[in-house]
Amino acid sequence: MTAATILPTPPRFPRLLLPATPPADPVSLNEALAAGAFGSLRKAVDELQSTGVIAALTESGMRGRGRGGVPIGAKWLSCAATAAEKHYVVVNAYQSDPAVMTDRVLIQRNPYAVIEGAAIAAFTVGAEEVLVGIRAEATDAIRILETAIAAAEAGGFIGENVLNTGLAIHFSVRPLQGSYMLGEETVLLKGLEGKRGQPEQQPPYTTTRGLFGMPTLIHGPQTFAAVPTILAGGIAGFPETDPRTFAGTVLVQISGAVAKPGIAEIPFGVTLREVLDVAGGVPASHKLKALLVGGPSGGILPAEALGVGFDHDALESAGAQVGSGSIVVLDQHSCMVDLAAVLTRFCADEACGKTIPCRIGLRRLAEIGARICEGQPRGDEITRLNDLALDVSASALCDHERRATLALLSVARYFRDELDAHIVRNTCPAGICHPKADSRAGAAS
Ligand code: SF4
Repeated sequence: MTAATILPTPPRFPRLLLPATPPADPVSLNEALAAGAFGSLRKAVDELQSTGVIAALTESGMRGRGRGGVPIGAKWLSCAATAAEKHYVVVNAYQSDPAVMTDRVLIQRNPYAVIEGAAIAAFTVGAEEVLVGIRAEATDAIRILETAIAAAEAGGFIGENVLNTGLAIHFSVRPLQGSYMLGEETVLLKGLEGKRGQPEQQPPYTTTRGLFGMPTLIHGPQTFAAVPTILAGGIAGFPETDPRTFAGTVLVQISGAVAKPGIAEIPFGVTLREVLDVAGGVPASHKLKALLVGGPSGGILPAEALGVGFDHDALESAGAQVGSGSIVVLDQHSCMVDLAAVLTRFCADEACGKTIPCRIGLRRLAEIGARICEGQPRGDEITRLNDLALDVSASALCDHERRATLALLSVARYFRDELDAHIVRNTCPAGICHPKADSRAGAAS
């Protein structure tokens, strides 16, 4: 088993992104056509038209995989309804989390679904250009995507004369190199414009003012790849799936103390326990202690949170996020305080520096985490940590700052004993940190 292993899931889980029977050759257009590729694009163009596509997506209940989980019907409608000289579609395949490869695995295994979904989006909002922003290091995914785009263009499914209708939809793949922040949609757009990568305040949303100031529909590859199956009536094949509550499926990458690490397609809303079961559970020699959910700016949830649903709202209330789709399972040998301190330091280092509360606040939070790990607390660090984290996230210009406080806040919420062990007793229960007694008066809370 490797991080890129695709894990089997129960038959009741809809598969919109990674077909249960993968194609022998993912770039073979003939094989993709035999499996139904571009049938939904034809249906959109011949039958549904722009309004029908938006209605079908709205009715499906599907939400974007992005941090806000915005219903995609509403997002497509906003972009299509904005009058402008030009519209753009952008596939955000940058995938910031360095430990997660779900998007690139999707592109490598099912490139035509991403292309077809983005072409349907372009037709729906009236865009002639689709730009794919992708990590320059994802060389396999870039090669496969470029090959598939060329084949789809030669087949007349995209390009100058889509399906012989006279419509033009041109794709270009734009490899990008940059920091963690490039995954944020307004930063990605700046990267595509060749500008310095710093987030922009929203609203105005990108659907009304995006790339080069034009209305832009931007989603990750997973959202676009689900669209063809949704339009083809895909979820109807899963009787347990209620379209009124269906938020779509998402690829999660499960790693750490599990029997079978890998990538799985799960419907939004299944519990963390069900996700853990897909990964074979925790081996007998380990004891489940916590789950880091949502990547480097995610939250650390205790073992008791296994009943929490994997969806935007439930995770948010529990103190985590869908984020990058990463779930790291932590056992008794992990120190929650050390982990939260390292994650906060990472987020502070990756902040773009545009706004002061984030630039300074995250660094001060990282210092608090480091002081606790080293056994050098200054006064009531837990109160200071909570107050500062809430101030930082309340003054956020972008989501990075809002989420970067989750790790420390969730540790303060769920692992108070472990914090106290470091601060008051100068011990690290997991044996990771080496807190030393602080000789200064009033150091411990
Ligand atoms: S909140 Fe942080 S990451 Fe976001 S724009 Fe401000 S400094 Fe940059």
